[in-house]
Parts: sequence; structure tokens; C-alpha cells
Amino acid sequence: MAEPDVKHRPPMTKTEDVSREGEREQDGEGENKMAPGKTPANQQRGSADQLVQPYTLISLLTSVLFLISSALIVFAAFRNTLTWHLQRFWGASGDFWQAGWDRILDAVGEDPVNFWVFGTVIFTFSVYWILGGIYTVMDIINKPGALRRYKIQPGTNEPVETKRLIKVIGSVVFNQIVVGLPVSYLSYFLMAWRGFPPLRELPTFHWVCAELALHILVEEISFYYSHRLLHSRMFYKHIHKQHHEWTAPISVTAIYCHPVEHIFSNLLPPFLGVFIAGRHVATAYLWFAIAIISTLNAHSGYHWPFFPSPEAHDFHHLKFNQCYGVLGVLDRLHGTDTVFRNSRNYARHLTMLTLVPARELYPDQQPKYKQQKAL
Ligand SMILES: [Zn+2]
Ligand SMILES: [Zn+2]
Repeated sequence: MAEPDVKHRPPMTKTEDVSREGEREQDGEGENKMAPGKTPANQQRGSADQLVQPYTLISLLTSVLFLISSALIVFAAFRNTLTWHLQRFWGASGDFWQAGWDRILDAVGEDPVNFWVFGTVIFTFSVYWILGGIYTVMDIINKPGALRRYKIQPGTNEPVETKRLIKVIGSVVFNQIVVGLPVSYLSYFLMAWRGFPPLRELPTFHWVCAELALHILVEEISFYYSHRLLHSRMFYKHIHKQHHEWTAPISVTAIYCHPVEHIFSNLLPPFLGVFIAGRHVATAYLWFAIAIISTLNAHSGYHWPFFPSPEAHDFHHLKFNQCYGVLGVLDRLHGTDTVFRNSRNYARHLTMLTLVPARELYPDQQPKYKQQKAL
């Protein structure tokens, strides 16, 4: 899932990134414009040094520490102003959400089973199929053509094969209802044992933010390791292979998988944080919606402008043994993204702040000096 994944990149602004990329291209192609005092060999070596960044654990930690300390200083300076504005905003919109929540409770009652079991299944099913349905229609009719510029693997699923799609829909609905309903019951009993907060009282803005941060962290850890386990010889052959039938995934293949995988790798990681925090069902709904939208985006096969990059998980489907995580932090620490980071897909792995597709901004074509090296 989610996506939200530009954080693990080196501390380089987008403008710098683009301009460096431009330098690389120019270095490769502008062979006649030699800098004074430089031999072609030196110039090539200089370009290669710029291209191959020494990504070590220490450089990663230094970057993270630098970012955290800068953020802390800025936060400390603006804390009071920030909190005042946020509380004012939340005070106004909080009433709006609370009034809406009260209306829902007045209509459906306050039985926790309705919220944790049926509500969860209906809500997650709806989010999945409203967004997934739009993607599916686009995949079937192969329109609008203009949006195909954003395809990560152009030429694949244009249009999608009907027989394969029907198989996916059947498996996904089975996982959502037949597997999802009993698992939701189990989660209800676990939450009841853990203790519910008052249902009518929505959590505070600060608590929602803290809880979401916890959920993202817990999911990154639990999804990464459960996913890596699924790639062990035995589990891959009998369980995970189904999900990897799609080397170029489409959105609704997000939970097209063996039921055992669905329980341990799709349902457990998002639920674990909810169980640890032991909090409100409304926050759980918000988190489940974020997780679903994130995984649909990660499998969509499209790299949209202004959205978190789906390049890493798409690359996972293409190469099988790269990019197991969601954010990419654990992949970096375990070195399970080395091939990815040396690919063109990695250059495109950022939230695009322009309407130009990532494939056009960072085309497959290699700079000339790289092609000469390969000869
Ligand atoms: Zn996998
Ligand atoms: Zn996948």
C-alpha cells in the first residue's frame, strides 16, 4: 500500500533533481562542449560520479537526522501559532464532523457489531469499488486516450483482457465478503476485549494525526516482513504466486490474492495499528480508506501528477524480488531496492508536480556515455 513514499529519497528538492537530470543528459550528449582543462575521460568520470550517488546507511541516517532536527527547530519556532490556527480550524470543522456522526448514530443505533463488522465490510467494499470501478471502466474501454500517457508500462492492458478481469473480480469479492466478514467479526471481539472508547465522541484532531502516524509505521513494518515471507520459496509457490500473475497490475488486482495472503498481508497490517491504539471506529474507517486508496493507486499502472508515486510497487510486480515495502524505508535498510534504485523507474519515483508524465520527463533512453560504456 500507499503509498506516501517520497520521504525515503535523498534530501534533494525536485528542482535540483530535475536540473541534475538535465545535467546528466547534457553531459552525455553535448560531447563537443568540453570544459577547459578537462579531457573527455575526466568529463565522463565527472558525470558518472554525479550519476552514481553513494547511498550508504550513514548518509541515509545523516539525511534523516538533518531533516528531523530542521523540522523540530521550525516546529518549536511556530508551535504556538500553528496550534492556535489548527485548533481554530478543527473547532469549526470538528463540529461539522461531530454533527454528521451524531446523525449516523441516530439513524443506525450504537451497536458496536454494526460498526466493527458490517460497517467495516460495507465501507471498505464501497471505497474499493467506487475508485476501483472508475479504473476498471478506463481499463475496459481503453479511454480516455490522453490519460494513457501516464501508463507506467505502456501497451499493457490496453484494453484489459475480459477473462482475466472477471477472474480478478471474483477473487476480490470472495476475499472482501467470504474472508472479510469472519475476520471483521474476529477483529470486533479483539477490540471488545481491548475496550472501546465512547462511540458518540469523535477523537480530537491531534489524536487522529498521531494515530494515523502510528498506523503508517505499523503497516510499513508488518507489511514489509509478511510480504517478504510470502516470497520465500514455499509460500510463494502455494500462496503469493496468484498475486504476481499480473506483471503489469491494474488497480483492482490490489487484493487479487490467495485468502491466506489476504488475511495476513492485506487485513492484518492495517488492523494491527488500530488494535494497538485501541481507538475509535471512525478513525479506523478513515485509516482503512487511506490504505485502500493507496493500494489501488500503487497497483493502478498509472503514475498520476500530484499523487504519490506507484513506481516502486509496479516495479515489484515487474521484477518480483525488489521493493517489498510501502514507504520504501525498510527496502532501503535491507537493500531490497538496489536494482530499482539503479533503474530509470527510480528517477521517476516521485510525486510529479507537473502535468508532464514521468516517462516523458525521464525517458528510457540512456545518455550516450552510458551506452558507450555498455559496449
Ligand atoms: Zn510480492
Ligand atoms: Zn501487489
